[in-house]
Amino acid sequence: MENFTYSRAQDVNAAVSAAAEPGAKFLGGGTNLIDLMKMGVEHPSHLIDVTRVPLDEVEERSGGVRIGAAAKNSAVAAHPLIRERYPLLSQALLSGASPQLRNMATVAGNLMQRTRCYYFYDPSYAHCNKRVPGSGCAAMDGYNRIHAILGTSEQCIASYPGDMAVALAALDARVIARDQHAERAIPIDDFFRLPGHTPHVETDLRHGEMITAVELPAAPPNAGFHYLKVRERNSFAFALVSVAALVGRDGNGMIRDARLALGGVAPKPWRVPEAEGAMRGQRPSDTVFLQAADHALAGAHPRRFNGYKVELARRAIVRALNEASGTV
Ligand code: SF4
Repeated sequence: MENFTYSRAQDVNAAVSAAAEPGAKFLGGGTNLIDLMKMGVEHPSHLIDVTRVPLDEVEERSGGVRIGAAAKNSAVAAHPLIRERYPLLSQALLSGASPQLRNMATVAGNLMQRTRCYYFYDPSYAHCNKRVPGSGCAAMDGYNRIHAILGTSEQCIASYPGDMAVALAALDARVIARDQHAERAIPIDDFFRLPGHTPHVETDLRHGEMITAVELPAAPPNAGFHYLKVRERNSFAFALVSVAALVGRDGNGMIRDARLALGGVAPKPWRVPEAEGAMRGQRPSDTVFLQAADHALAGAHPRRFNGYKVELARRAIVRALNEASGTV
């Protein structure tokens, strides 16, 4: 690990002021950043500890909910407002990591976690455009079993590893960010960037901006939900494929509202509006859900070792939508 300086901020103003320094990074739970520093992947020159900044409230706001950026994953999952109104988010959070990690990890840190691409984590591999821009991509023709099949580029095929943000994508969340001058709200789909030619730029955050909260609009009324995570073991494993599904039905049993977001298959939480549109007005059935899955996976571009994700995602989507619509 390389030398760095450390300071502890007591409020948001102090934190964003310290963040203006080049090379500064925020330290929340540290469950990903510290690992990356030890491995020589991240090299901040200054760490701003924001664990004492009072941003851990979960509160009602304009019919929706505002979740403070420093709220712990376990506290958010257990909060009555989240359990009652956004159980999809609770389910997604509880499927992530281990209880010990969820007790440390914060909402903002969860959003900022990096991909689990093996080559990214191991600096002995010279070719990783995300770690060293312009160096190539070892995963492209390497062992790419956990990598993305949607939204990739010729520069990077890393997949987004988290669970919380997949549920947030289905719930139309907004990320609230602040710098020294202003606060802004970023729709979650715009918050995460696709790799394109700049895979090292993963989010829309500007230098010096700090995530202060996540806001959720009012939850869709009378909708069923399901978060399905397919992984190699039942806990403390990242998703090979995950599905956040939400289905609301009208009085005749037809689909009134459908939300579908995927994890583990793309460089960011992958919301699928075409699939959602195709389901609206239909009666829930395997046929309708298979068509939705076909829409979701139409642009899939698997590589040598991750072709299995196409069929796995198709089956996971159908299962999650059936669970959410109450047809199983
Ligand atoms: Fe690096 Fe992305 Fe290629 Fe992985 S997939 S080696 S993160 S450029």
